[in-house]
Amino acid sequence: MPAPTRTAAEEAAFMSELLSGLDDSFFNSSSPLASPARHSPRKHPKKHHKRSSPAPRPRSTPLSPLSSRSPKKPTHKLENVQAADVDLAALTAGAEDWDWEDMLTPKKSRSPHKSHRDECTRCVVESIDELEQSAIYSTHSSTTQRRVVLHDDWAWTELEKGDVVNVLGSFKSDASGILSVDITSKNNIIIAHPDLLLTATALSNASQCRRKPLLSSLIRQASSESGASPSLVWGNMLHEVVQSCLKEGRWDEGFISSLINGVVRTPSGLSSLVTIGCDVEAAKKELNARAVGIKVFGERYIQQGNPREDAVLVNTRAKNGQKSLLAITALHDVEEDMWSPRWGLKGKIDASVQGVVEERTESPFTKTKMVASASTMTSSPFPFEIKTGRNVAGMEHRAQTMLYTLLMSERRAVESGLLYYTQSEEVVRVPAGRAEIRALLSVRNELAGWMDKRAKAKERDVVQIEDAARFLPETIDDERICKRCYVSDACMLYRRAVEDIEDVSSPIADIYFEKTGHLTVSHREFFKKWEQLISLEERDIVRFKKELWIMGAREREARGRCFADMVLDHAYVPPAAQAHHRIHQFTYRFVKQGGETDEAASLLNGHMGVGDAVTISVEPHLLALSRGFIVELTPTEVILGVDHELHLGRIAARTRTPTPDVLFRIDRDELFGGMSRVRDNLAHLFYQDGDKRRLGLVVDLKTPQFDWPDVEEDDEVEVLDDAYAKALEGMNPNQREAMDKVMAAQDYALILGMPGTGKTTVIVALIKELVRRGKTVLLTSYTHSAVDTILLKLLDAEFGILRLGNVDKVHRDVHKFTLAARKEANSVEELEKQMMTPPVVATTCLSIEQSDAKKGGFDVSLFRRLSDAHPHAVTDLAFQYRMNEDIMTLSNKLIYSDRLRCGSKEVAKRALILPRREQLTAMHKSSCGNSTCWIEHLLAESCKAVFVDTDLVPARDSKVGDLVQNEVEAELVYQTVRSLLAGGVREDQIGVISLYRQQIKLLSHLLQDHSGIEILTADRSQGRDKDCIIISMVKSNESGAVGELVKDWRRVNVSVTRARSKLIIFGSRSTLQSAPLLNEFFMLMADRKWIYNLPPGAHQMHRSLIPLTTRKRSSNVALLSEADPHSDRHEAKSNACSPKRARLDPRIIDARPLLKDLVNDI
Ligand code: SF4
Ligand SMILES: [Zn+2]
Repeated sequence: MPAPTRTAAEEAAFMSELLSGLDDSFFNSSSPLASPARHSPRKHPKKHHKRSSPAPRPRSTPLSPLSSRSPKKPTHKLENVQAADVDLAALTAGAEDWDWEDMLTPKKSRSPHKSHRDECTRCVVESIDELEQSAIYSTHSSTTQRRVVLHDDWAWTELEKGDVVNVLGSFKSDASGILSVDITSKNNIIIAHPDLLLTATALSNASQCRRKPLLSSLIRQASSESGASPSLVWGNMLHEVVQSCLKEGRWDEGFISSLINGVVRTPSGLSSLVTIGCDVEAAKKELNARAVGIKVFGERYIQQGNPREDAVLVNTRAKNGQKSLLAITALHDVEEDMWSPRWGLKGKIDASVQGVVEERTESPFTKTKMVASASTMTSSPFPFEIKTGRNVAGMEHRAQTMLYTLLMSERRAVESGLLYYTQSEEVVRVPAGRAEIRALLSVRNELAGWMDKRAKAKERDVVQIEDAARFLPETIDDERICKRCYVSDACMLYRRAVEDIEDVSSPIADIYFEKTGHLTVSHREFFKKWEQLISLEERDIVRFKKELWIMGAREREARGRCFADMVLDHAYVPPAAQAHHRIHQFTYRFVKQGGETDEAASLLNGHMGVGDAVTISVEPHLLALSRGFIVELTPTEVILGVDHELHLGRIAARTRTPTPDVLFRIDRDELFGGMSRVRDNLAHLFYQDGDKRRLGLVVDLKTPQFDWPDVEEDDEVEVLDDAYAKALEGMNPNQREAMDKVMAAQDYALILGMPGTGKTTVIVALIKELVRRGKTVLLTSYTHSAVDTILLKLLDAEFGILRLGNVDKVHRDVHKFTLAARKEANSVEELEKQMMTPPVVATTCLSIEQSDAKKGGFDVSLFRRLSDAHPHAVTDLAFQYRMNEDIMTLSNKLIYSDRLRCGSKEVAKRALILPRREQLTAMHKSSCGNSTCWIEHLLAESCKAVFVDTDLVPARDSKVGDLVQNEVEAELVYQTVRSLLAGGVREDQIGVISLYRQQIKLLSHLLQDHSGIEILTADRSQGRDKDCIIISMVKSNESGAVGELVKDWRRVNVSVTRARSKLIIFGSRSTLQSAPLLNEFFMLMADRKWIYNLPPGAHQMHRSLIPLTTRKRSSNVALLSEADPHSDRHEAKSNACSPKRARLDPRIIDARPLLKDLVNDI
């Protein structure tokens, strides 16, 4: 084993670098609001200060009085800080006498089980007061007066009114009786904007340039993820090998080489080999050579009981004569994802291990012999970071390990971390020294400050693009560093396009010119605009994310974004293992604690549905233990597919709760990867070596070219034409034109496929024809169902098709196209064949939901942009074969400006014919006794498009948490469906659509015995069509509040055009008419006499139709004592915020004497 590589001098140098990073940060980058305009070029970033900032001071000198400190002090002039909305002191009971020095100094021996939770108080800054000598931030709250005094470097923390901070330290009453705490270089810590969780990797990268980690978080490069460089690929693979050895506890050569054998053949392993152009055999050779030391490591360090004599633990802090030995005795976890809202950090730890450290002190008098005059043995957990590169104990590694130590202290009692270098076989102990931690956290605060600036500016003015500029620290202008910087493309692009800086004189002016010289004004504007719109989209993600820690599970559950108090269902056995996605490794079923009680709200009442991404946590500290998505959801249970094992025993031990009491919270998670990939794709258009062709077509709107075939071509083309002619058989003129245009397109052709015009047919024909001509096709849409609708028509295609995406979301019948369904590739060649040879690749793409971003123009689709600029590239498909004339008229008048035409007479006259109408007559006789009742009217063949006004019924909407539903309307829909079925209409002919998720859930529940009926949101209805479509508009209230969704006319239109023969829209005319867009709709409907007014109590006219399934909700019988449901509905708005439970309606009991008796007995 090589000698320890760190000397005391090197150690000191490391400290000083880290701290100098800190001091520079405080002095170099003043307020982010300061002008970033170029000043004179700097020779060295650390010596030169471009802004009017204070001169650097010697590190150890005390702070000079503020008055002389700087002409431009930090911008806070705030008095008082609003305090402690959440006091986390409860979490830290008994920690009052905690000493930071003690916690962070590893040498004092302490019980490893002592709580590591320093007191942490979450405060909101109310005002800041700068006094002489030191900046004093004072805080108070409505309940407690609090003051936070920032000394030393902390005084430069950027804060303003309204900012959230975590104060780590104990408040004590000061002379004036106010609870106060001093944050100094020696004691206590302040975390600014703790809800922004920065990664340990980002922070450890920040020492040279603050701009770099911020840019790389904005733009996540595809290449850095999949591991494009060989050393990254080997590194990732070796990580996996070491992790597997740790898991299995085996370190023999045979085992290691079998692991290597496996690792290179996994799909992800193979695909990274494809990217670096290396074959399996060469990869194995390389990895085996690199893995030599792993076996030695295992023999030396993996040990039960006391450490071996040669298991040296490198401790750079060791005093003369001190020696440490290490035995790793157990593995806690690998790849633990840790989020810490206390430190404002997150990170993934390679492994968490238990280790025994023996510390020996050699007697100074017997230097020649090692005398264990003082030997202590301590067992404690450690974060274990694996480094596979040749670089040993680099400063970044140490910083990262310290941060992991902090992160892990959220879950276990840890005080230092282990760095294992596979190349040098060294294991280094990295204590979390206060000075270094403070430096790192200051850098964290600074970076968080910049990120917060971005977010705030956007909140202040949503669409004001101009404000986007000042949200990155300045460039460091160091030619040597910037030249080698891996985000320099993005850095220069932001400088030019977003920050609008012209650089002709700085030391990096050459780099700047090389990277941005080609950008025109419109390029810059385009990038700037779209970059900001992407950021808008991101904002909500951050907002919802932090609810995980700032909001209790029950509170969040009330908002429909969480399932609280869930327990693991042990009885559940997941279905036989299928090849799963990376994020679906384990399957679990959860039920509410205590099972079905009166209190248990239906799990269906909320924003969470099948397919949604979730995180699983145990309050309060085990956040995001595992992530995954909802596979199945019923009122009482939820089945999740997740990425990490949930080991109840371990979780119970960590939370110190008895196993059966471990309560999970399942939170809706927002977008796994965020928008950084989208931003990266955007940026790539503008890079020097970027996608010039698309830049020209999309940004510069270059005219697309078409190469129309010459009629008198040679024979070969004649042959082709024959086959092509066959493909065109049966197509109408529009469809043929579309086909021709695509075949002639050199750049792009656009087909505007209005509803029912045979888009699917054309797309399928296009794919076949393009493949026949030797082209490759990427098939994509926003929704899985739209992609799969096309693939279902290509099931017997003779060419290869690759369907990418989460297998659980792919239509069962097209599973055979997924990678998972193929024989596992065994070599790079095989994988390459599987991935590269299918001429058709099908996958979904990202869609944009956010309304602010829409206002800014984010919803101007690429299609719109291109078709507006080049109408000649567009073909309209105008002949539609779906809707009858009435339904078509409706969408023509409202959306398509009469461009739609019926494809045939037969289509135009289409009506829904009830094969067993006589059954209905019998039903009327026994209930309403009326052959002209509303159901008769709606089901008449002549009634093809109708708005059914519920105003007189009445049918008011109500709230479940913040979700809206309409129970009476749901019953009306249900009764209509039942009548259709009674009349002989098949279930698969009927579709029910609502814009509201909660209404969908209600309807699904009512119609649960009719699984053939599709109940869909407007978005999911895309690509479907049904003979009869029933739409439930839901909104019905006195204030005329129609909500955003109804205003989104495009969604309504999508729903309307799903109907072939009959369209029934239930809604409140008086409420909906207040939306201008719908007003037009009502004028048309009234004009055509297509409005039908339901009589009062219409839903009670047909006893035999009253929902039977409601009895399945009878677990809530306790609610029967509630007031008359009618009056209750009218009052729904007054208690809109309290979640409502499904209740048993007295009318239902009237209809069922047996049930009534039962209920009366309670
Ligand atoms: S190019 Fe230079 S200034 Fe820009 S991020 Fe990289 S190191 Fe920082
Ligand atoms: Zn009737």
